[in-house]
Amino acid sequence: AAGGGCPAPDSGVQVVVRIRPPCRVEEEEDARAPDLCVRKTATNSVAIQGQDFTFDAVADEVSTQEDIFKLVGLPLVENCLSGFNSSIFAYGQTGSGKTYTMWGPLSALSEDSTCSERGLTPRVFEQLFSRIKEIYNEQITDLLDPSPKSLQIREDVRTACVYVESLTKELVFTTKDVTQLLVKGLSNRRTGATSANADSSRSHCVFTCVIKSESKNLEDGSNSTRTSRINLVDLAGSERQKLTHAFGDRLKEAGNINRSLSQLGNLINILAEISQSGKQRHVPYRDSKLTFLLQESLGGNAKLAMICAVSPSQSCKSETLSTLRFAQRAK
Ligand code: ADP
Ligand code: MG
Repeated sequence: AAGGGCPAPDSGVQVVVRIRPPCRVEEEEDARAPDLCVRKTATNSVAIQGQDFTFDAVADEVSTQEDIFKLVGLPLVENCLSGFNSSIFAYGQTGSGKTYTMWGPLSALSEDSTCSERGLTPRVFEQLFSRIKEIYNEQITDLLDPSPKSLQIREDVRTACVYVESLTKELVFTTKDVTQLLVKGLSNRRTGATSANADSSRSHCVFTCVIKSESKNLEDGSNSTRTSRINLVDLAGSERQKLTHAFGDRLKEAGNINRSLSQLGNLINILAEISQSGKQRHVPYRDSKLTFLLQESLGGNAKLAMICAVSPSQSCKSETLSTLRFAQRAK
């Protein structure tokens, strides 16, 4: 109910498409074939090659990080502070702007915490406990302590909570504390990339904030605590992982990425259906580690937002079309 003045989306999932600005080369190429490029046609629709797609909102090259935060981040934070879980996923092909949207450039995080380019994450954390983890090839790495150890997902039978065993937890007091953790985690993600071959296009990166709020009942002086989570997820690149020249570990990895993204799509689809029809049905959380890990913060009263990032360029049109179809399915 607490949407921070924002209209509730018509399904449980808010779907926003963000078209990043073209780079110099793209600008020159695309001027010659504008019809092959995706473009915003209204506040909530895009067109590409004569096809129209409608979502909750469309952000284009003039949309700022602040605009995205107001549109997607703020309502979810409000929701969390009212005791409900929230998740934001960035989906899209490599190079479409997922990382820029979720975190912003690293320089915007480390140098100046008020930099206008900082992304969604640094804007949404306050009063929170945080942990950063990355799932690579169905393996979980603790980005705050990347020494090799095999981290397992466990379920607490008593509380039915799903958690990662022995993951680093840090208590934070200020936004600066969190920014420092984020920079540390994201730098570890980079170095991990060369050693484990897990670059950001091939792994999901999850940042979870646990928010505990306490309130005092003025009549009897008792305290009550509410806990909610906000998950900020920078997904692996959605481009079809090439299976043709891959073998061994690389083949297994490509299969895992394709599968975990399509399972996430299915799951969001089912959650949107349940929220529209009000009918219960089986939700296949256990199909992948990503959805299993996030399960307690996805179902029920949780709010989900999917930011589908696309490149403006004609050279990306087939990936853009498949991202728009994925986004449409989530509605
Ligand atoms: P992805 O994480 O999807 O692979 P990135 O976020 O790394 O893509 O974006 C690719 C490049 O485009 C980066 O250099 C990034 O800084 C730039 N970029 C992406 N979105 C925007 C935007 N909205 N405004 C300005 N630059 C952007
Ligand atoms: Mg990225």
